[in-house]
Amino acid sequence: MIHLLPFGDVSQATSQTLAASLHPIFGVPVIPHDPVDLPPSSYDSERRQHAAAQILKGLARFKTSLTQVERVLGIVSVDLFAPDLNFVFGEADPREGVAVISIARLKPEFYGLPPNGSLLRLRILKEAVHELGHTYGLGHCPDPVCVMRFSNELQETDRKGASFCPECASRRLSSQSTM
Ligand SMILES: [Zn+2]
Ligand SMILES: [Zn+2]
Repeated sequence: MIHLLPFGDVSQATSQTLAASLHPIFGVPVIPHDPVDLPPSSYDSERRQHAAAQILKGLARFKTSLTQVERVLGIVSVDLFAPDLNFVFGEADPREGVAVISIARLKPEFYGLPPNGSLLRLRILKEAVHELGHTYGLGHCPDPVCVMRFSNELQETDRKGASFCPECASRRLSSQSTM
């Protein structure tokens, strides 16, 4: 069972649409939750970004309050950073089984382009599947269309697919069956 936890102004529609798309990929129930406030400790006033690590800690705490849980994915609309990186699209903590994605830089508007709902939904799905893939123990994949391909530019995200290559798919299933 995968739980989706939206933060701040991420709409319920966003998490419900994502839940519906994740379900056939992972083959487990995907439960969207009501939005919660961002943990104040995650904001870095100098960088004017939120620390992905702090949000992951909050997600790990949230996870302990749940029964019947396999993975928790947080969704934020604010920009995220990790140490030594200008920004991250998302981050996972495989040990805790939690991950977070940011939709800030997935929006065409971030680059001065007109909004595009279907493109945004597809990018959100790819980032969500990728970070959840990390929580199932998958690393980065050299297959150019596999969702586990590393991307730190949006063009790379747009080039890859939303699903696992056969090798990543079988590796994920073997890790899922040991839960
Ligand atoms: Zn990755
Ligand atoms: Zn792969």
